[in-house]
Amino acid sequence: EGLKKLLSDGGINQFILKKVPVGHALVFPMCEKCHTSNPVTPKYEDGKIFTSCSNPDCDIEKYEVDILDTSRDLAVHFFIDPIRDKTVKPNANIHVFGGDYSAVHDHANGDSTDFLYTKVGKVIELMRRVSKDIPDFLVGPTFYARDGNKMSKSKDNGLRIERLKEYYGNGYVEKVVDFISYVADRGFKHIDYQVLEQKLFG
Ligand SMILES: [Zn+2]
Repeated sequence: EGLKKLLSDGGINQFILKKVPVGHALVFPMCEKCHTSNPVTPKYEDGKIFTSCSNPDCDIEKYEVDILDTSRDLAVHFFIDPIRDKTVKPNANIHVFGGDYSAVHDHANGDSTDFLYTKVGKVIELMRRVSKDIPDFLVGPTFYARDGNKMSKSKDNGLRIERLKEYYGNGYVEKVVDFISYVADRGFKHIDYQVLEQKLFG
């Protein structure tokens, strides 16, 4: 229902990504049969998504999905944080984002460097449209892992809490707080694995 409310707001999809055609929505359903999600932005009207299966080996062609049909899987990217924070209890009081959220998103919005057009700015704007009462935001620095990539839950290349516990015992919370203070005091935006290693295990 939160998603339906957001999508009823004209222009919301174009605010997120300028190239989205009017009458289309950044909501990507999965084919019921083969679970392929068509990457083409689908048509959207009155709570229904109209798309087709993009898998050439699947015999499903055009299909429609009601966005209130909870038995269907939908990929919603930008909408997920605002909806989850504001419509699922307990509501979030604080939302922590990775450093890449402070970057301007979709330069097609002009070469604006306005906060509104950063990833976090867009998520905040979406939240405001769902509810007046929005959580506090904390945009952390971007951490780089030993493999040179950004640390990410999805890549699982970060530092696990178990390892810190193993190393420091129950004192690990204090160590983490010390490290966060060190980072915050210096206003670091990017942190390499070596800094982490030196400060936490040096
Ligand atoms: Zn299919």
